[in-house]
Amino acid sequence: MQKLEQLYEGKAKKVFKTEDPDQFIIEYKDDATAGNGEKKGTIVGKGVINNKMTATIFKMLEEKGIPTHFIELLSDNEQLVKAVTIFPLEVIIRNTAAGSICKRLPFEEGQALEAPIFEFCYKNDDYGDPVINDNHATALKLATQEELDAIREMTMKINEILKAYFLEKGINLIDFKIEFGKTNDGQIVLADEISPDTCRFWDVNTGEKLDKDRFRRDLGGIEEAYEEMLKRVNG
Ligand code: 5GP
Repeated sequence: MQKLEQLYEGKAKKVFKTEDPDQFIIEYKDDATAGNGEKKGTIVGKGVINNKMTATIFKMLEEKGIPTHFIELLSDNEQLVKAVTIFPLEVIIRNTAAGSICKRLPFEEGQALEAPIFEFCYKNDDYGDPVINDNHATALKLATQEELDAIREMTMKINEILKAYFLEKGINLIDFKIEFGKTNDGQIVLADEISPDTCRFWDVNTGEKLDKDRFRRDLGGIEEAYEEMLKRVNG
């Protein structure tokens, strides 16, 4: 499958058309940003790691009944996916309080949450990806209520699968952000990626952070953390 016209370049990936209107190629990059693009850098090897980890996790989720956009790996940093239109929503699940929720609300970093907290954010850099509810999303025509319901139900299932999956690998899944898209035939599927860029992973025994917070917070050992996570997932 050949890459044709570039459709989109985001902070961490490029998306290309192919000769098949139902398939895109995603190329993962080493570029890293944080704080709505204020901090920029490179994490050497990140594109390869995130491409491979996403492939493994999406395949596992498919086997457990979650529809995803993933078709196949094409190279170290490219994968073939179903063509989708992405809902402009960041869908976040928190199992333990960390990151932005500790700034917005009186939660302590590391505080276990009795039940997962579900959040929709409007994916729009001009507004700083604000937290919104279903009424904002439908009023802005980001998705219909039926679509939001389907996305919420799939996300709760994905969280249960991922929590158990990572726990087996000695990782506490603190929180994550996922995105959904709609295929040309109208199916809602999990899209984008699941990687240390989009999840918080804490080692169960040491509490060590094995994710992008090492970059966001200048903790060092970034490449090593990403490599450790790929090793835990791909063996
Ligand atoms: P927070 O809202 O605490 O910054 O992020 C919650 C979770 O969602 C974290 O795992 C974080 O990595 C992920 N997340 C939230 N927003 C973004 C984003 O714009 N880009 C990426 N890559 N991940 C995000």
